[in-house]
Amino acid sequence: MDRTSTRDELQAAWAGARAEMDGLPEDRGLNIAHEAVDRHAAGAHGDRIAFRFFSKDGRRREMSFRQLAEETSRFANALRALGVEPGDPVFLLVGRIPELYVAALGALKARCVICPLFSAFGPEPIRARMDLGAARVLVTTPALYRRKVKGLREELPALEHVLLVGPEEEAEGVRAGANGVRSLATLMAEADSSFEIPDTDAEDPALLHFTSGTTGAPKGALHVHEAVVAHHVTGRIALDLRPGDVFWCTADPGWVTGTSYGIISPLTNGVTSVVDEREFDAERWYRTLEEEEVNVWYTAPTAVRMLMKSGRELPAQVDLNPLRFIASVGEPLNPEAVIWGREALGLPIHDNWWQTETGSIMIANVAGREIRPGSMGHPLPGVEAAVGRRENDRVELIREPDVEGELLLRKGWPSMFRTYLNQEGRYRGCFAGDWYLTGDLVRRDADGYFWFVGRADDVIKSAGHLIGPFEVESALMEHPAVAEAAVIGKPDAVVGEIVKAFIALHPGHEASEDLRLEILGHARKRLGSVAAPKEISILDDLPKTKSGKTLRRLLKARELGTDEGDLSTLEAPT
Ligand code: ATP
Ligand code: MG
Repeated sequence: MDRTSTRDELQAAWAGARAEMDGLPEDRGLNIAHEAVDRHAAGAHGDRIAFRFFSKDGRRREMSFRQLAEETSRFANALRALGVEPGDPVFLLVGRIPELYVAALGALKARCVICPLFSAFGPEPIRARMDLGAARVLVTTPALYRRKVKGLREELPALEHVLLVGPEEEAEGVRAGANGVRSLATLMAEADSSFEIPDTDAEDPALLHFTSGTTGAPKGALHVHEAVVAHHVTGRIALDLRPGDVFWCTADPGWVTGTSYGIISPLTNGVTSVVDEREFDAERWYRTLEEEEVNVWYTAPTAVRMLMKSGRELPAQVDLNPLRFIASVGEPLNPEAVIWGREALGLPIHDNWWQTETGSIMIANVAGREIRPGSMGHPLPGVEAAVGRRENDRVELIREPDVEGELLLRKGWPSMFRTYLNQEGRYRGCFAGDWYLTGDLVRRDADGYFWFVGRADDVIKSAGHLIGPFEVESALMEHPAVAEAAVIGKPDAVVGEIVKAFIALHPGHEASEDLRLEILGHARKRLGSVAAPKEISILDDLPKTKSGKTLRRLLKARELGTDEGDLSTLEAPT
């Protein structure tokens, strides 16, 4: 594409998508929960299964669209009975259990703003987010409340209602001394199962999501009900969701992927979602794909790398015939992983790109289009992506192919964030003229494929060259012993920065000086002396965020002995 689309062309694409929405009856607006739940519950497929939940002990519970409509209405009525008002923030701190999904959608019905948090967060990340988001309601479990929230109550003056999942007696156990703590089950039992969604403006706030904290302290991105337009069509186009499919999004709703595509998009598309409360286990994951006859699977590069680490025998033992489409998001997907997918699973893995801020998939390898392993694919309809650089308060577009620059998106897609909570200046700083600046570096080839180079913060400057970490990491991963790789720039008096790599090995390989030298040699051969790492450290595991992203800034801080910064999203080693 050598010309930029006009605003009218982009808006026409979204107008078409908007026309697929049902809208609240009597033209009363657009509400995510209506599009996701009520319109289907009232239609011909009300008995279709919306969710298949698997609990920690492996029990399975199904919930149809109709049942989901009733349960979410109960929750919305329960909020109303407590005096909770539209616009009030409702925080969710629970594992992937049915109550999380019911509360999220029920709160959207009541026009509250939802913020799902990872249940594995410690007290400080919980406090910081609930404080910033002025949480009025919290849905959690007695155990999580006792361990993580109870001691924070004085620091959270806005928090009025704590709704505890589980039996009444357990809620009683923590009630002593803490006000506003109630049993969710009791409230739900007392609430009516029909609820009329109040008038909802498409611009009413709906979702608050904190970024992963990969590059610094997490930011709170706020989205509005109109985002559902993008959740819906991108699910169909980028994930190939078709009504009646069985879909498994492995992300937790504490990360934006687990809400946009773990809750909203499959429902609006009339799809059955598998939800597993349990954490990663290679053998069980393969079994789940087989036994649940999953058609579409959306996961992340970290999970793919863990499956690759677990060997070829497990996938060879399962029948993955119903599986039609695999997609991945969150980090660059190394070409090795795409090729592994073809060989081990019989299907390529379709990488796609988006951010908390974009709210939905922007660039993707869509079904039926040639995949170039290592590329994120093409912008979706309605999305205009460009490569450029900031020049004060405007951007200069780079039109020649294969030149690196910042990934820019033309403003105005429905799920674009509307602010960073309490950081309006920072929000405004993300835009220049008509463009949103993503903070990621990419290049576009002559055929319009976008290639991820690295985060702007992670790019390494060595002897006058700019080196993207992704290319170096992908080359390292081609070595049979390397399971994971992350590279950083390490200050050097002569060349500015040298490339330093951290790697983790596949099982069956022992760290040794010989192996280190062999991998250094492999990298030098593949990348040449400028981009090849000068140093390699072998670690047991690389530090990651809870959403599975490698924390290069932490590796760098440790290497340089500098401040480790905000580690609220660091995944604790297992
Ligand atoms: P923070 O903004 O707090 O530093 P984060 O950017 O990791 O954290 P998210 O919004 O969860 O938070 O992640 C979006 C980022 O993840 C993108 O900006 C990009 O850097 C990376 N990313 C997502 N998908 C891909 C992909 N397919 N290829 C490469 N990078 C990706
Ligand atoms: Mg980010």
